[in-house]
Amino acid sequence: MINHLITQKNWQTQLSEAISSVDELLGLLDLEALKTQIYTPTHFKLRVPRAFVAKMAVGDANDPLLKQVLPDQQEQIAVTGYIADPLAENQQNPIKGLLHKYQSRVLLTVTGACAIHCRYCFRQHFDYNANLPTAAAHSAITTYITEHSEINEVILSGGDPLSVSNRRLFAWLDKLEALPQLTTIRLHTRLPLVIPERLDGELLERLNQSRCRIVMVIHCNHANEIDTHTAQYLQRTRAAGVTLLNQAVLLAGINDTLEAQTALSQRLFDAGVLPYYLHVLDKVAGAAHFDHEERFAIDLYWSLLALLPGYLVPKLVRELPNKPFKVPIDIYSKR
Ligand SMILES: *Cc1c(COP(=O)(O)O)cnc(C)c1O
Ligand code: SF4
Repeated sequence: MINHLITQKNWQTQLSEAISSVDELLGLLDLEALKTQIYTPTHFKLRVPRAFVAKMAVGDANDPLLKQVLPDQQEQIAVTGYIADPLAENQQNPIKGLLHKYQSRVLLTVTGACAIHCRYCFRQHFDYNANLPTAAAHSAITTYITEHSEINEVILSGGDPLSVSNRRLFAWLDKLEALPQLTTIRLHTRLPLVIPERLDGELLERLNQSRCRIVMVIHCNHANEIDTHTAQYLQRTRAAGVTLLNQAVLLAGINDTLEAQTALSQRLFDAGVLPYYLHVLDKVAGAAHFDHEERFAIDLYWSLLALLPGYLVPKLVRELPNKPFKVPIDIYSKR
């Protein structure tokens, strides 16, 4: 652990001081020798806040947090079947910034920005500028929801919805809470793991006072992402009445062992978070080296079922274009 990197700075400062230089990152971790394996992308560049780097082990080229953010030359290899928009999301926007794929829920991309750039991200080629809601689209979005009475939940996503200011976020909450049909507002975010200070008092108080149920799905892939400091912030969030769930992606070389998955579930539970989904990788261009055969995921899953209580076993799913829900992987198919 690099303790001198742990900071109590406010989250905006931490965000603006995120590391974008590969040389700086490798220098901090004493891994200069890795320079020959990495490359400097011109698009979807390295981006990692220092508080996340502080959770990495110095001198460990295989650190599971480092591997999530370090651009690897393998990204540049084109692999058949791995494409820019694997979920065909560019075709499912009835309105800019709104995805209505599943009957009762709509997803809003409130921003294209993220605090961290994860190399496996299925949205790394997404054209955010073309899909962010414009000022005019804001009212179109509320009109769309009103005209679709089957919608009872809105998911704030991105990018990372917690990378916007409280002022902007609260404006969305105000607008959504004014729609009586909505029972639930959900945030999908990785920021609590990357910069825990983002869960500030003002935010937690606002979430606590919401008329709607608030669900926060954090995107944590490895137990090491939740240190004591992070766990405290998560527990505080839970105490504010927020339902905390986790969604992870199965990533080769990062969390693809029984030990890593059980440790993740247990650490999440210690921090007041329940496992929700374990996604197999979306087949996005540049991420093939993180993928496993479905057979591998199924074998791992059977081991998890045998080892953990049911409430600590996430649902194993694959997201497919044009399917009205996340598709459960048929664990009996390859037995
Ligand atoms: C994942 C996702 C949802 C939410 O799905 P749940 O199964 O409710 O978690 C909703 N809309 C879109 C477009 C999604 O990708
Ligand atoms: S935080 Fe989520 S959306 Fe942002 S880069 Fe990482 S995986 Fe992609």
